[in-house]
Amino acid sequence: MDRRRFGSAAPDVAVIGQGTWNIEKDRRPSAVAALRRGLDLGLTHIDTAEMYGAGAAEKLVGEAIAGRRDQVFLVSKVLPENASRQGTVAACERSLTRLKTDRLDCYLLHWPGEHPLEDTVEAFEQLRRDGKIRSWGVSNFDVNDLEAVWTLAGARLACNQVLYHLQERAIEHAVIPWCEQHGVAVVAYSPFGSGAFPGPRTKGGRVLQAIAEAHGATPRQVALAFIVQSRPLLAIPKAGRQEHVEDNAAAAGVRLSGTDIARIERAFPRGRRPRELPTL
Ligand code: NAP
Repeated sequence: MDRRRFGSAAPDVAVIGQGTWNIEKDRRPSAVAALRRGLDLGLTHIDTAEMYGAGAAEKLVGEAIAGRRDQVFLVSKVLPENASRQGTVAACERSLTRLKTDRLDCYLLHWPGEHPLEDTVEAFEQLRRDGKIRSWGVSNFDVNDLEAVWTLAGARLACNQVLYHLQERAIEHAVIPWCEQHGVAVVAYSPFGSGAFPGPRTKGGRVLQAIAEAHGATPRQVALAFIVQSRPLLAIPKAGRQEHVEDNAAAAGVRLSGTDIARIERAFPRGRRPRELPTL
């Protein structure tokens, strides 16, 4: 599994990881087994959040990583409404309890909110000094928000987790270039479009199928390979089933040619830069 730089404070991280939004709705033994299988296959970046299932996803992740904590790059997120100076620290401690661990590898502000960014950053820095988080980042931040964090904290900002998949390429306009220039990792969430993956009968789906066949791969592997082929991208597909996890892990071995990439870009055009950063 290829690894990629994750800001300046964190170690390099596997380019394909595992999301956990709605995982608490899956059959629990199957979801726990899927996450563990993912770890076996090198999908060591596990993304969760206090919001997911109101803490239930974190509890499930805690069960899956029990006894294997050191293999995991564990990420969780504070809700903007909790992201005050004291609230961020308290939210992190609740997450650590649910995850049954003493530290997060990265802690994110889930999206920009009402509390002053200075307060959230101060809380992140306190958590880092206290050893409760190793690094911190943001999610759903457009360039103007990123500039504001950079002014406050510079290279302590490790990553920006944003919506990115074949049918939603808006971050290519400004967010990816900004992050690359500043050494900030970009984590693509919903890399399969969160349930809207292009079907085999659509024009784009047929292009993916043809490229997949040429590589002995699946269309989803081609989609993941497209996302992580360029710096500074990592992806966190969610899969509650082992066979899906295995399929996703194998995407790391798919190397797309320049011609493949050009075909994908034509089939899924980037479009114009929208006024607001698309989110889910
Ligand atoms: P996604 O990863 O785009 O798609 C997940 C869906 O794809 C699930 O239905 C899953 O099925 C299916 N799937 C996964 N691998 C598959 C495969 N190889 N073959 C066929 N189907 C497959 O959706 P997402 O959950 O929205 O996004 C991923 C993660 O990003 C989330 O879980 C979360 O951690 C994060 N996220 C962050 C934000 C944010 O605001 N920061 C927002 C949304 C998501 P099964 O589960 O049945 O395997």
